[in-house]
Parts: sequence; C-alpha cells; structure tokens
Amino acid sequence: MINWEAHACLPLNGSADFAPIERLRAAGVNYASINVGMDMNPLPQVMTVIAGFRATIAAHPDRYVLASSIADIERGAAKGLLAIGFDLEGAMPLLEDPRMVALYRDLGVRQIHLAYNRNNSVADGCHDVERGLTSLGRRIVAAVNDAGLLMDCSHTGRRCSLDIMAVSRKPVIFSHSNPQSLVDHGRNVTDEQIRACAATGGVVCVSGVSRFLGSDAPTAADVARHAAYIAGLVGIRHVGIGLDISFDEPGLDDTPAGDFDPTFWWPRSAGYDRAIARMAYTPIDTWRKLPAALQDTGMSVDDAALVMGGNMLRVAREVWK
Ligand SMILES: [Zn+2]
Repeated sequence: MINWEAHACLPLNGSADFAPIERLRAAGVNYASINVGMDMNPLPQVMTVIAGFRATIAAHPDRYVLASSIADIERGAAKGLLAIGFDLEGAMPLLEDPRMVALYRDLGVRQIHLAYNRNNSVADGCHDVERGLTSLGRRIVAAVNDAGLLMDCSHTGRRCSLDIMAVSRKPVIFSHSNPQSLVDHGRNVTDEQIRACAATGGVVCVSGVSRFLGSDAPTAADVARHAAYIAGLVGIRHVGIGLDISFDEPGLDDTPAGDFDPTFWWPRSAGYDRAIARMAYTPIDTWRKLPAALQDTGMSVDDAALVMGGNMLRVAREVWK
C-alpha cells in the first residue's frame, strides 16, 4: 500500500527547511508532490527552488528519493523513504514553449496544471473570465502527454478544464480540488468536471484546506466526507488525497520579485476575504487518521487504500515516463 500526497507546499525558496516533509514521511506518506512554482513566480525563483530542493533531497538519501519512476516509489517505500516529485501550478514557467515540458520533467517535475486562478496565454484560471483552452494550450497538453507528466486541472477554469480533459490522450487528475456540490466555491469542481475526469480514467484528490472543505478547523472526517461524495458520484477508483498543506517557515521570504499583488491571484470577489496565510489546513496526522475516517463513511479497508494512494499510483503508472 502506497500513501500518495498529491500536493504539498513548502516556502518557494531553495533554502526551505524540509522538516515538514520529514513529518509527512513520519506520518506514513510514501510519495509527495511538492510545488516548485506557480504562475506568479518568476523563472529565476522557480529555477533556484528546483535547484535547492534537489540538493536537499540528494543530501538526505536516508529519508528521501527524487522519484523518476514508480519503481523509485516502491523501492523507497520498502526502505521507509519518502519519494518526492515536483509539480508546477501554471504554465507561465513554460515561457509559451511546449519543449519546456520535457525539460522540467528531467529536473524532477511530475505533474502540472496550466493556469493558477487567472487566465494566461495557455489556459484559463478558475477565478477569471471563461475562454476555453487556447491553441497554444492544445499544444502544451500534447507536450504534457508526450513527456509523461500528470495532467492536472486544479485551479483551472471550468470550461477550460473540460477542454483539457477532452483533448488529453492520458488520464487527467485534479490534484487538490473538492466537490462544489458540497462547498460552493470557485476553486471547487462541479459534478460535470468530476464525471469528465473519471471518464479520462483520472482521479480527483481532496484538498485539506479549510475554505474548500467548509470547515474552519478541518479534520480527517471532513476530508473523508468529500472523498465519499466523489466515490458516490463516479466510483472509488477516481478518488485521491491532495491535502495541499502549505508549510510556513518564519523568517524565510518567498514573495515573488516584482510588483506582486496577492489580491490579483486570490481575488476578494472569489471569496478570499482573509489573508491567504490565515487559511487553516488539516493537520499532518490526518494521514494517520484517514483509514478510520474513510471507513467510517462505509468504505472497505481496500477502498480506503485506493483513495489514499492506490488510485494515483495506477494513474501515474499509466502516465509517467
Ligand atoms: Zn494550489
């Protein structure tokens, strides 16, 4: 059994302390997708984050392995190591060049979505005007499929995500998105999007963020409730976990250089009325409590194991190169 954390965030600074990642390992997580950049982060920041995180992983072979294959994850799990892959949140670090996708893969990126809340030249964000996938976007999706990265639609506009799922030749995931039927927020996904994701063979991973779970102090039971809803809609094979815990490190600055405006990326009109730093997350020990919480919704032991990692393992096995 592999526990698969589909999305977690350290400070976007190459010097970030991996202590929170060590806590994920101690909580039984076998694979974690760690964010290395969003649309708001300039390329020099993204590159130094990748360089720093790669160096930290390489310096601790007793704890971590940079995953380039499913075999790396399974071998690591047998030795108690946490396998790590990187993810990009948005296509802007690709500089409008589909060839950049394979380059990022070679640097350790295993998963990407194409827009972060706002529209760009490739795709639509979920808090912006709906246009649909652009022609450049179609070429980027093909490049993501060809390079063997997980095609992710979290943070993406509704119509654009449906376009991506229609043209992708591989299963598509939502790495950290919750059902809009349970919590009406623009970052959550409609039943139509969940059904389209399942039709690709993909997985919708439940986020542990308070506002998207509909709980000020979210617990494993809240995560399980959302997981059970998705399972009821499209089946147990299409549910995963991406708690999206953002680990702060006091004193370590990761503010994007330039004229960065947080209210553009997290607009008040979309309900971001409080500072993003004050969002609450499920605690790391959610990973220990999830088996019981999932079974409390009526899932079997085997079903809970699929949700906690078996389903994402299946999809990655089909997609990764
Ligand atoms: Zn995110």
